[in-house]
Order: sequence, then C-alpha cells, then structure tokens
Amino acid sequence: MTIHQQDVQESQSTGATQIEVPAQRPGPVSRIAALRGAAAAAPQAVPRPVPVPVPARTGHRFLIYKQDPSVTELGARLAFVPTVVLNGPTDARVRTEMQGVTPVARNVNGDFVFAPGSPQFDCAHTFAVVRQAIAMYERHNGGNPIPFAWNVGGNTDRLSVFPRAGVGANAFYSRTAKALKFLFFTPEGQPPTTVVHTCRSFDIVAHETGHALLDGLKPGWLSAAGPPQTGGLHESFGDLTAIFLALAQPDQAEALIALTKANLHDKSFLADVAEEFGRALGMPSGLRNADNDLKLSQVGNEVHAISQVFTGAIYDVLADIVAFEIARQRRTKDPTIVLIESAAALCRLVFDAIVAAPATGARYVDVANKMLQISASRGDPAIYRTFIRNRFAVREITTAATPLTDLMSGQMKMTEADYTGDGQDVTEVDALDEQSASLRAEQDRSRCCGTMQMPEYQVVDAEKLAKRGSLEDDDILRDDLDELRRAFSK
Ligand SMILES: [Zn+2]
Repeated sequence: MTIHQQDVQESQSTGATQIEVPAQRPGPVSRIAALRGAAAAAPQAVPRPVPVPVPARTGHRFLIYKQDPSVTELGARLAFVPTVVLNGPTDARVRTEMQGVTPVARNVNGDFVFAPGSPQFDCAHTFAVVRQAIAMYERHNGGNPIPFAWNVGGNTDRLSVFPRAGVGANAFYSRTAKALKFLFFTPEGQPPTTVVHTCRSFDIVAHETGHALLDGLKPGWLSAAGPPQTGGLHESFGDLTAIFLALAQPDQAEALIALTKANLHDKSFLADVAEEFGRALGMPSGLRNADNDLKLSQVGNEVHAISQVFTGAIYDVLADIVAFEIARQRRTKDPTIVLIESAAALCRLVFDAIVAAPATGARYVDVANKMLQISASRGDPAIYRTFIRNRFAVREITTAATPLTDLMSGQMKMTEADYTGDGQDVTEVDALDEQSASLRAEQDRSRCCGTMQMPEYQVVDAEKLAKRGSLEDDDILRDDLDELRRAFSK
C-alpha cells in the first residue's frame, strides 16, 4: 500500500523522465503514473522518507543439482553462496581444478550459473556443494573454521577439488593429495555416450567432503589399523553429511515433508544416497539406504555395511525426533520448519559427539554415550535420550535399555517429553557385544568408497596418521624405501 502511493508520488513529480521507467518497473500503477507524468512539469527529486538498507554485496549464485541428474522430480536450482568466491571457483578453503577449463570465470552478474552438463557447470556445482557442506559444519562448530588434516602450524593450504579427475566408478578424498577427486564412467551395457559423473551427485560430493572434514577433526580415524567400527564411523559420517546437508536446504526439506507426509520412514529421495550412481551399478535404491534395518550381528567386519548400521540408527533417531517435535509443535510451526530445525539440532549433536569421542579406535558406543551426555547437558527433552538408547540398542550396538521393550511391543509413548520407560534418564550405556567382529576383526574395506581404499590409510603407520600435518608419497612408501635403503647400504 505505502509502496504504491510512493510510486505514484515519485512518478508524478519526476515527470517526463519517467516515461522510460515502465520497462524496469512493471505494474499498472507505475505505468499509468508514468504516462500521466509525461505531460507534467520538469523533474523534481523527492527523497525517500525511509533510508533503504544497502545489503552487503558479498555472495554469488550457483546452479546445482538438488540430488543428481536422475532425480528429475527435484532437478536443479539456484543456490546462494554468501561468501567471496573468485574465478576458479576458488575461495580461502577450496579450489577447483579441471584441465583446460579452470579457472572458470564468473558471469557478468558475478555468478557461476552454467548449462547443466557443461564442464563449467560441473566445476561450479561441485564447488558449491563442497562449500555448503563445509559451511554447515562450521555453523555447528560455533562459526569457527574446521582445519583440514594438514592445516597445522599456520598452514592454510586449500582442499583441491577435481570434478573430472579421470575414468572410474568412484570418488575419493586423499590427504596426501589434499584433494577430492571425482571420477566418471559409462555403466555396463550402456552406449559410450551415457556417462555418469560422480561430481554431479549432491550426495557423493557431500559424502567425500565429509571424509575430508572428519579427517581434519579426527585424523586418527581413517587408519585401517583401527577397529572396523572406527572405519564405519568415517563412511557413515560421509552419508550423514549428505542427509543433513539436504535437510539444511529448505526446498529439499519441504519436498521431503510433502513426499512422505512427514513420515521419514516413507520411501523418499532422502534416505537413498547417490541415486544415479547406485542405479548405474544395479542398485535401485541408490548406493546406500539410510533407512535400513541392519544390525551389527548381520554385518561381520565389512566396513561399508557396518557404516549402514550407524547411519540407520541416526536416521531412526531423526525420524523419532521429527515425529515427536511435529506432534509437539503442530499448532505453532509448519512441519518443514520443524524438520529443518530438528535435523540441524541432531546434526550438531552428532558433530559434537564425534568431536568429543576418542582420538583413535572410536566405537559406536563411545559416540552414543557422548550423544546422550551432550543431549542431557544442552537440555533436550528426556525422550531424546530414550530415542537414542532405543535405536542404538535395536541395532545391537548398546545394551538393551528398559524402554526398548516398550518400543518393540508398540507401547512406547512417542509424544511424552519426559518418557524414559523406567524413570531413569540414563546417559551411559555399554557395548552389547565386546567380542563383535565389528570391534575385533581386521577392517574389510572392499565395498567402501574410494577414500577408504586409498593406500595411504592402509599402509601409513596409525600413529603417523593420527597426527595432523601433511602426508607425503614417501610416507606411503616408507616401508619399501626403508627396505631399499637397507639393501643398498650393504
Ligand atoms: Zn566414503
């Protein structure tokens, strides 16, 4: 109302010059006013009564896939990255590299918007998703930067991102190369023109960025010498990064609420990680399914499957909390907002618990206990701890707590904030089976992503890995080089 009056006033008084305005300022009021103004007197400046706030001019638009090219119901969208990004794209933490293509220049509007499928698009898309994943965890880190594993003693080296690093059905993070590398491939039985680019998958890019960030937080966790559950935490953190990053985006959260009618156990794109990639490898539900029922006794020492047990437990806790919060806030808040807030709160809880977990050999029960303790200290309703205890117990990770009987018999009171089953708000549980292969055996990483199969995490001494700092090729070849040195000194 006020704006229209102001338009009329401005147009009338500024006179003939306003004939040019309609093209820039459409709308019936200003158009009529401008025509009227054509016959009016000489222009006269009328200052606006209220100062117009001038926003900070930092930030760029990127075109990104919401999931990947195969999830057509979601497609692509513009994303706003509110920090300075230079041609590359590159910023203070991340740089992009594609031979013959980078640096990719911003367009005249300062944006990185390119035709999907073009090399420039792949660079921009990959950079934007990496940048968003980093920003999400930095928010949970109190706004503080999270160092990469090599960022010690004043080292500020960036993470290099290679969107088209070569041919292969994989992607990986390498501490030695300080890089994320995304490969591309033609699925078996497809014409050579059908190429799946792993960099175009929101989930895969988020997953690999998760490995890089977790390696900075917990440099001792990538070593293959740790128990399989520690490897499982790394794989799971990658998948959870993809899930939580999707839920940090309001349009994705809203699409999920509508698709599932606010029941996260309903089939959706969210629980299917890396849809296009998974289909290309013959897995209709994507590469991994977060909404699974796997238990520790079913997975042996196979790290990828072990990771799904942890991811599944966290996904179940998320579904429980969202159901509880939507019921609790049904009259005061839209379910999409509840989902975004609940997911962010759980993501932060998992992040804090992982930061607080042991530096080496971390087990699922360690992270579960930290989650229980941090949840209590930050004042979550007691039922949050009940959800956590139940879901880890169902997965055979922790000892069966009393409320589990209620859950399994369908008697659990899902909407009672203080519900604990037996009145005990327990914040310390034990591992169900200390002899589990997931704790005792060697890690079988054969079905993990490329990161877990990098030789640097298999052969470099666990103690060396656990220390922050650069890792050189010679560190990987240390044993061979030592042997040669001994042989040549004879
Ligand atoms: Zn991985």
